[in-house]
Amino acid sequence: MPWYKRLRWRLVSVQLLVVISGIVSMLLLPRWVLSKRSAETIHSILAPYIGSAEAITQAENKLLTYFQQATFSAATLAGLIAILAGVVASLILWRTLVVPLRRIAAASRRVAAGRFDERLPTAHQGGQALHQVITSFNQMAHSLEQIDKKRIELIANVTHELRTPLTGLQGLVEGIEDGIYQADSATMQRMSGEISRLARLVNDIQVLAKVEAGALRLKPIKISLSRVVTDSVMQLQAQAGGKHQTLSVHLPTFNVNLIADKDRVVQILTNIIGNALLYTPPNGDIKVQLLLGDNTAQIVVKDNGIGIPADKLPYIFERFYRVDAARVQNGGGSGVGLSISRNLAWAMGGELSAESDGLGRGSTFTLTLPSLITP
Ligand code: ADP
Repeated sequence: MPWYKRLRWRLVSVQLLVVISGIVSMLLLPRWVLSKRSAETIHSILAPYIGSAEAITQAENKLLTYFQQATFSAATLAGLIAILAGVVASLILWRTLVVPLRRIAAASRRVAAGRFDERLPTAHQGGQALHQVITSFNQMAHSLEQIDKKRIELIANVTHELRTPLTGLQGLVEGIEDGIYQADSATMQRMSGEISRLARLVNDIQVLAKVEAGALRLKPIKISLSRVVTDSVMQLQAQAGGKHQTLSVHLPTFNVNLIADKDRVVQILTNIIGNALLYTPPNGDIKVQLLLGDNTAQIVVKDNGIGIPADKLPYIFERFYRVDAARVQNGGGSGVGLSISRNLAWAMGGELSAESDGLGRGSTFTLTLPSLITP
């Protein structure tokens, strides 16, 4: 028997149990109440009005019988009314509780089968509790729908990003086959560039998947942040020189130490300083500053480059988000760098944030790291 039928019978049984116990007590209680003591009371009431003892006993018996019959009729009538009330109460409960519960169960099955657009109308009956259950169900379905949309979007983005270098490679190979290109070192270099791009992308996606799933194992150790910042800047000096950009570093006079995963800090810094170089025109200025906060250290990367429009700023940490396609042609990546960096910062208990006064007005990225060791 399905659960809702069992519930219906349980409801009816509970009502019947209440009614039956009411009837039984109404039938038994008068007998008990009209016991010997009641007979004595009736006797004492009748005695002053009736002369002989025999007449008193007769009147007393008649009265007792009448009382018993009257209470029996009253109990029977009350029982019938109670049964009717019980049936009505069961029906009301059935309509207000079991019917919506059946709807919720059916909707849950549809959500489980992948119909995430399923929503339930908010119930006017059934009270606050049912209303709460339906609201929670709708919230859950909405969240699942959003997650599913993101999943589909992610697959579309990944395949799109993979297709670009693959198409490039395919074109080159076909060009060689058709004799359009020579299999010389220039063509090989172009092919190698596409392969590196593919490898970078696959690696980025792998790191992103791990860090988002919380599966990336960090190796926190005591590091000299002053040193890590200097090294990261040095690593990118050549790139800055290529565009005649000024890349400067500003550190406190003392050494700043903290507990963090060195390689991951370098990865974040390389990403945000690399972006600053990429999105700043030649002869631009990029400043990297190490500041101390309340038990935290902040690395601020400020450029005077192309900036980020205010309406795009909230999205730049999303996976595969790029402010515009033109930036990609300038040598930009797949749009996962900042997403990885922010997740890495979070994994280390820190934060990565961005500010910009708008297009053409430069950008500032701030990496905050905890676990500062008092210098
Ligand atoms: P990408 O690999 O495309 O650089 P990121 O995730 O590192 O991806 O950055 C996302 C987007 O944020 C970039 O495509 C770019 O449009 C914007 N962006 C990042 N850093 C800067 C910056 N310093 N100045 C201007 N725009 C930036």
